[in-house]
Amino acid sequence: NTQLTYKSLDSLEKENHLPLCMSRLYDNLKKTKHAYYSERNQFLRFLKYIGMPLEEAIKLYSAFYMDYDKKKDIEYSIKHWYGVVGSRKTYQPETCVSICKNSEYNIPNRASGCPFFNCQSDVLERLLRNHGIQDEQGIQEIKRFSDENQVHLACSKTYELTHPKDNTKHESVSLPNQYFERSWNSAI
Ligand code: SF4
Repeated sequence: NTQLTYKSLDSLEKENHLPLCMSRLYDNLKKTKHAYYSERNQFLRFLKYIGMPLEEAIKLYSAFYMDYDKKKDIEYSIKHWYGVVGSRKTYQPETCVSICKNSEYNIPNRASGCPFFNCQSDVLERLLRNHGIQDEQGIQEIKRFSDENQVHLACSKTYELTHPKDNTKHESVSLPNQYFERSWNSAI
């Protein structure tokens, strides 16, 4: 794993290294200047394991978060997810199954959870287009997988369409961090 700065997230996103769930969380943070507890948790557990140091994660939320009164609480919760305060538990990267099963993540009007699991078809389509996908047939296929709750197939298809040069055979996506690593390694 490489050491990432919070500023490198823009290029990671542009280079399609972020899975759709994480790209949605990042865009939402930038747009709303706010992140619900569930949104922070999901994003932080991902960022930690793709190699973003604690100080950079704090800078990320300080840079975008507008609610200054809450900044101290947020800093504490970031440290908690990094395991340096409170119970000091080491949180493992979350699997797609656990992200889909987490009822706190998958509530309406939140950017958390898995978009293939919790988005209406039109919202999902918009996210896919923002993610740089233009292939009409591909978009329909992804939406069909999503309607059938086959999130791993929908996500794998999204990877395939955004990584046309990666010809390696892969298992279908089961962890956001695995998606990132695959993408990162294919670009080296
Ligand atoms: Fe994220 Fe997994 Fe959903 Fe893909 S299938 S968007 S990696 S939670």
